[in-house]
Amino acid sequence: MTSTPASGSTTTPAVIRASGLTKRYGDLVAVDALDLVIAPGDIVAILGPNGAGKSTTIEMLLGLRTPTAGEVRVFGDAPNAKATRARVGAMLQESSAPESLTVAEAVDLVRHYYPFALSLDDILDRADLSEKRGNRIAQLSGGQQQRLNFALAIAGDPDLLFLDEPTAALDVEARHLFWEQVRGLAAHGKTILFSTHNLAEADALADRVILINRGRVIADGTPEQIKATVATRTVRLVTDVGVAALAAFPGVRGVEVAPGESVGATHPTLVVQTATPEDLLARLFAGGHLVSQLTVTDTDLETAFIHLVGATTQTAPTATPDTTPEHVMESAS
Ligand code: ADP
Repeated sequence: MTSTPASGSTTTPAVIRASGLTKRYGDLVAVDALDLVIAPGDIVAILGPNGAGKSTTIEMLLGLRTPTAGEVRVFGDAPNAKATRARVGAMLQESSAPESLTVAEAVDLVRHYYPFALSLDDILDRADLSEKRGNRIAQLSGGQQQRLNFALAIAGDPDLLFLDEPTAALDVEARHLFWEQVRGLAAHGKTILFSTHNLAEADALADRVILINRGRVIADGTPEQIKATVATRTVRLVTDVGVAALAAFPGVRGVEVAPGESVGATHPTLVVQTATPEDLLARLFAGGHLVSQLTVTDTDLETAFIHLVGATTQTAPTATPDTTPEHVMESAS
């Protein structure tokens, strides 16, 4: 898929423009001639299995890693240029805020670096840290540290915000508040680029999803476009037809025993991926088979992700052990 929603416009200048972006580590091609154009105001999710090249890409876009080949422009300039850095905020997975400072002191320190910083109260409020302003950083919980990283990332009122796995340590309520803030920023024209393992989160928030595998873009579009490329639906049912026999039905792309069900049970609940659920059910009924506890649902982004990554992993010329679909399933919790 090549569609790049909201980014094909020739009238809007791109926030990020990368061409032929490549990073090699010895023989390993971590990022492979990536072309990327990101438009202002987009909320873009970068997805991919572990080792796909997401962090390397983000770090090159931030000027933290030097590309082996290719070019990156952020706001038309080099990512390392001072004028660019003043407009960019980043919340990376590792933070190095000095632990002996209080929350307010650390935020104040960082906001003084930027020409158009938000007020301290505003930053603390947006990061839901007003009540923790006097606490030492060393005393914060994992979730509070993550919110502090967000506070530091938005301190300079950036036009472009990178969020690398931003909600990993947050509970459900904190996640909700967090994404509300991010949506608010996008509504004010800020551009957001985030990576996540939580595909439901990407589906709910992103205008655009860029799926990377082995350093290459393998799908790029709205979550709906990406789900549509896979064109399967998920049928859950209990039937007297076995897994292997069901897998041989026309249009069936995959069958598995539902998670939590015993494989040895007489009729375990099965989960079937099929392009044509109507045909599947017609055949089962015509054959007089047992069909009960039936649900048919649209493909979710996780299913699309597994199909697309699986397809490119099988056809790609080189293989790394940590990019199998199973691994994706494991990490996509
Ligand atoms: P992701 O963020 O998608 O998990 P990364 O960008 O971290 O992927 O890594 C892409 C590939 O590059 C992986 O195979 C990883 O092992 C490798 N890699 C990342 N950083 C280095 C490094 N500093 N030296 C050597 N290999 C690296």
